[in-house]
Amino acid sequence: MTEPYRTGLAPCPNCGRELRIDAERLRCDGCGGTMLGYPEVRESLGIPREGRLVWVDGKLGRRKCPRCTAHMLVTCIRLTSTKVLSDLTLDRCETDGVWFDRNELSKLIAAPRS
Ligand SMILES: [Zn+2]
Ligand SMILES: [Zn+2]
Repeated sequence: MTEPYRTGLAPCPNCGRELRIDAERLRCDGCGGTMLGYPEVRESLGIPREGRLVWVDGKLGRRKCPRCTAHMLVTCIRLTSTKVLSDLTLDRCETDGVWFDRNELSKLIAAPRS
């Protein structure tokens, strides 16, 4: 039998494959998903420590956090006081960070910030 959790992580919440640890990120080679901690999310978006990063949380979703296996919150990110990126629905663990499906992070980085 193969050991399914060699990394000590739960499988990809999207496709169920084993995740790969890449510095502070988790990556899935199967579907292209990635999980970032909150400091990394800020860094990727160019938001300073004191900058505005507001999560607009919905319900707990079906997906589980690969680090702690708690169900993740379905969430939207609000980058300014007025703009909610409601077209981009993400999954986040309050403790561990945010799961981005393939292309979601690049869409967020490219989103208008005014
Ligand atoms: Zn995957
Ligand atoms: Zn977690």
